[in-house]
Amino acid sequence: MEKIVLITGGSRGIGASCVRAFANRGYKVAFTYLSSKQKADKIAKECGALAIQADISSSNQVNDAVDLVIKHFGRVDILVNNAGISEFSLFTDITDEMWQKMLDTNLSGAFYASRAVLPSMISRKAGCIVNIASMWGEVGASCEVHYSASKAGLIGMTKALAKEVALSGIRVNCVSPGAIDTDMNAHLTIEDIDAIKLETPLGRLGTPEEIANAVLFLASDEASFITGQILGVNGGMII
Ligand code: NAP
Repeated sequence: MEKIVLITGGSRGIGASCVRAFANRGYKVAFTYLSSKQKADKIAKECGALAIQADISSSNQVNDAVDLVIKHFGRVDILVNNAGISEFSLFTDITDEMWQKMLDTNLSGAFYASRAVLPSMISRKAGCIVNIASMWGEVGASCEVHYSASKAGLIGMTKALAKEVALSGIRVNCVSPGAIDTDMNAHLTIEDIDAIKLETPLGRLGTPEEIANAVLFLASDEASFITGQILGVNGGMII
């Protein structure tokens, strides 16, 4: 039976690569996006996927999106919590609004989507959640304290939820990317990129496809005894 995967933030970058990777392997794919409608429509057409506009930081919109996927495909077998934002700021310049938006998007978004899909996964005693964290959630990044905190929270949520739902046949894991070549890093200068390459043992940025491959693995039956784990895909930046 074809598996149904829901990917949040599938219009660009890592999420778009996940949409393509799962579709290429015969999964039925639904994905959400915020504002990139043209890109979302193009990928949906290319992959035969269902694209849904939904702000991940709104629990109502996330509930409606999950209802729509279940109405369309019948269920969600795999959830990939990928939608996210990043921002550079001195800690003392982070406003209440900046802090709240970061946490609402990167952490609450994954909570809302996981809470929405879990009841039906629990009743079927099967399912899988893959969260996209970040190496900065593991080791912390200067001038990205709110981002790092949101991703550290996601790692904590992954471990705790994995324990809670394991006996219901559900696995919960994280992929924790290093520096990946997407729009999220488009603001970096050539000097910044060179510095990252120098710090990375494999000597380059990762590709969104390399993250999608790790997500595919964790979502597959080949990872059937893996839960609560943080899989670093960072070129050796964190060892
Ligand atoms: P990206 O290219 O900027 O794409 C972000 C995606 O998230 C887009 O599809 C965007 O939708 C969606 N999104 C953002 N805010 C949203 C919201 N409020 N509601 C719904 N969707 C929203 O970023 P990326 O590099 O692919 O990053 C994907 C994930 O990987 C993020 O969680 C990020 O923190 C994580 N990550 C990235 C890196 C990296 O170096 N790139 C490293 C570690 C972790 P629209 O297109 O509609 O805006």
